[in-house]
Amino acid sequence: MTSSECAAPFGDAILARADVLARHSDAAASDGASRPLTVTYLTEAHRACAADLLQWMRDDGFDEAGIDAVGNVVGVLRGIDPTAPRLLTGSHYDTVRNAGRYDGRLGIFVPMASVAELRRQGRRLPFDLEVVGFAEEEGQRFAATFIGSGALVGQFDPAWLALADADGVTMREAMRVAGHDPAAVAALKRDPARYRGFVEVHIEQGPVLSNAQLPLGVVTAINGSVRFVGEMTGVACHAGTTPMGQRRDAATGVAELALYVERRAVQAPLLVGTVGQMHVPDGSINVVPGRCRFSLDLRAPSDDLRDALASDVLAELSAITVRRGLDYTLKETMRASAAPSDPALQARWERAVAATGAPLFHLPSGAGHDAMKLHAAMPQAMLFVRGDNDGISHSPLEAINAADTQLAVEAFLHFLVQLAEQPPTSQDLG
Ligand SMILES: [Zn+2]
Repeated sequence: MTSSECAAPFGDAILARADVLARHSDAAASDGASRPLTVTYLTEAHRACAADLLQWMRDDGFDEAGIDAVGNVVGVLRGIDPTAPRLLTGSHYDTVRNAGRYDGRLGIFVPMASVAELRRQGRRLPFDLEVVGFAEEEGQRFAATFIGSGALVGQFDPAWLALADADGVTMREAMRVAGHDPAAVAALKRDPARYRGFVEVHIEQGPVLSNAQLPLGVVTAINGSVRFVGEMTGVACHAGTTPMGQRRDAATGVAELALYVERRAVQAPLLVGTVGQMHVPDGSINVVPGRCRFSLDLRAPSDDLRDALASDVLAELSAITVRRGLDYTLKETMRASAAPSDPALQARWERAVAATGAPLFHLPSGAGHDAMKLHAAMPQAMLFVRGDNDGISHSPLEAINAADTQLAVEAFLHFLVQLAEQPPTSQDLG
């Protein structure tokens, strides 16, 4: 054993648990390390993950542990004062298809390790700590996302029960097989008055911390986003006989829009804009494109910044099509509000990171997380942990290391101690 492994007991233990949990997968087993990891809502592998998490919560010394009506694994470490507002934390244990081992799961393992450590020290917090392994976040099996965290904020839509997976199994049937009662889901809604807030530890899922060579990042906001799909229409004509000045080429119009999105988004450091789809229906090598379908995905750390970006992009779309003699259609398909971190909870993360000796670094979250759902009900703030392999995620190449994971647990413990020792500020209560 090297000295660095000895120095990261929490990190080593968490990586080992992540490996054990990754043995459960929906995908057919294949030999070797490249076995795909896929855990979707309420499959056999999913229920096996829940059983492991439940057992580990008991092993770690939680006072209460159970699986709720949507499949969330919920553990409570009771505090000295049962009436004091609770701290809620957690993340999801389902995965995308062909996933990595840490997306979501790290945010369950870190608080569990912290509970085990508090128990080892014989220490009681003044308030209850509630840790939730959310059953579903990724929307892989059914056309619904954030099923686990949604249930806690009263956003479980009963219409989802009729949704069927690719094999025709409805969510209602999947819940019945798993022993869950859909009628009991509504009661999972938490009363925000009972909570001081929600915090979530998550892998960054991007390259920023890795490039900056920093183990931890304090999240300032979960980005708001807006998505559109559209189509430009010009005139399909002969690629050999139509002079360049007499064309109405729909694909070059979309290309110009994509270049504008890139130019406009780099004007502010935290904006991102993507034209992820460009498609010429029935395109031919010798035909000027008469139609081109496209998508737009625009994100920013505040709704104002997002709306300003979208408004400029739409204005440019209109200008491009007028200049090129094209028509266009555009449909908004999704709009999600930004979830800025609660200033008081964010400040506590900052002090916790500083206490570990790691440099302080802030970044917004470009991806959606369970904290975005909890934001509807209570203050929230997230802590990111560096991903190795340039932060690649939603991939088997997703990786973290024991040293960074160790720091995440130390930061989490420090966060708890701060809440225990420092009375809430007026900001906490406001
Ligand atoms: Zn995640």
